[in-house]
Amino acid sequence: MDCLFCRIANGDLAANMLYEDEQVIAFHDIAPQAPVHFLVIPRKHIATLHDLSEEDDKLLAGHILFTAQRLAEQLGCEEGFRVVMNCNDLGGQTVYHIHMHVLGQRRLHWPPG
Ligand code: 5GP
Ligand code: ZN
Repeated sequence: MDCLFCRIANGDLAANMLYEDEQVIAFHDIAPQAPVHFLVIPRKHIATLHDLSEEDDKLLAGHILFTAQRLAEQLGCEEGFRVVMNCNDLGGQTVYHIHMHVLGQRRLHWPPG
């Protein structure tokens, strides 16, 4: 299996890293859509949100969200930010290893495109 984000998590591919621990890593998006735009991903390969299992429920899923919140605050997004997880083609997913986008430091509109 050749997965771009597994390669980043393994250190085989460089990324502009923000945070790492045993469960998750966070790095800046290569094509930022806002002044702050980073991704939080599990080290574990999970292709889409449909593949999230019960064992990932509280610990991993919660840790991804908590990491997003903490880093958003560290990067000056106290006034507001957005988290997005795209699922499958119709949801706009292009990399099939789940990731939480965190966008901030500009006004974000609703509904999204
Ligand atoms: P998706 O469309 O799957 O929700 O989001 C994938 C995100 O990964 C996109 O925002 C894209 O810019 C980002 N991305 C794709 N390839 C790379 C890469 O090699 N490095 C980094 N840092 N981000 C990437
Ligand atoms: Zn992967």
